[in-house]
Amino acid sequence: MIYDVHAHCVPEGLVTDLRRQSKRFQSSFEETPRGVKVNMAGFTTLPINEGLISLDRRLETMDRQGVNVQVLSAFIDLVGYELEADLGAEWSRSYNESLVLEATRRPDRFRSLATVPIQDGESAAVELEYAVSKLGMLGAQVGTHIGERQLDDPDLEQLWAKASALGCLILLHPRDPLGRLPIDDYMIRQLIGRPAETTLAVGRMMLSGVLDRHPGMNLIVVHGGGFLPYQVGRIRQGLAFPKSVTGIGAISDPTDHMKAMYYDTVLNDPGALRALVEMVGPGRVLVGSDYPFALGDLDPLRSLAEAGIEGEVFEMITRVNYETMVANVGSRDE
Ligand SMILES: [Zn+2]
Repeated sequence: MIYDVHAHCVPEGLVTDLRRQSKRFQSSFEETPRGVKVNMAGFTTLPINEGLISLDRRLETMDRQGVNVQVLSAFIDLVGYELEADLGAEWSRSYNESLVLEATRRPDRFRSLATVPIQDGESAAVELEYAVSKLGMLGAQVGTHIGERQLDDPDLEQLWAKASALGCLILLHPRDPLGRLPIDDYMIRQLIGRPAETTLAVGRMMLSGVLDRHPGMNLIVVHGGGFLPYQVGRIRQGLAFPKSVTGIGAISDPTDHMKAMYYDTVLNDPGALRALVEMVGPGRVLVGSDYPFALGDLDPLRSLAEAGIEGEVFEMITRVNYETMVANVGSRDE
């Protein structure tokens, strides 16, 4: 069995529903040759292409890739973090129910992760609990920031506490790469902004002490962890400075944190993938594709082969790590 933990989905019915409720969810639509772009409460998505929507195309691609099961998560552009908290919670619920319905069309091929309204920590924790306990989802995808609020914001403590208590998956995913920085040339927002933003977010969770306080969640950092594994030595140096100067709240060494998280294989370079496996250990790497995006890795098993990953390590990355990680979701004690 081959599991892909990083794949995005917009169920067709969700967009139809949104068109019907566009006023409520402050949404407008722009048709483009590559699909519709949605503006929700001021945030405009990339085009919602056929790959995000079509179940048939998804299954065809998975068969071609040799992937048995995709773990579906929301299209990160469409999570509605800019909506007011109560509307954001409502939108997350709609998306989650729609995603579960889509996944149950082929329960042998799909599992799913929720989206949670991180614009309000309490609502996000409530939705996570509902998604895992009632909808049977494996956890949630969480964007790297909401405007200027970042993931070590005290308001989100309750979300991390819930995730840790549930022992669920949290897929950390870039959303609005480096915000308002003028980096739209050379495609830099996608090429460098996304992994940079992921590195910032996970670095803040680490150095603030969030990860020390909530060790029960299974944090998956996409795109091979951004620049984190490569820069862990520099980050570790911060601990040598007085806490009174740095404000660092981390108790554990960043290297230990790094080895306690999970990473997907979306690196598109065999040397980088080999280095990741060596640095974090083969027990911490999971297959990802970032389906259906061209910047993802749409042939993940070939990437493993090109990196020379085979035998027991191949089994761990494609199956064992996933099965171990999801075995106890929802069954941890508070
Ligand atoms: Zn992605």
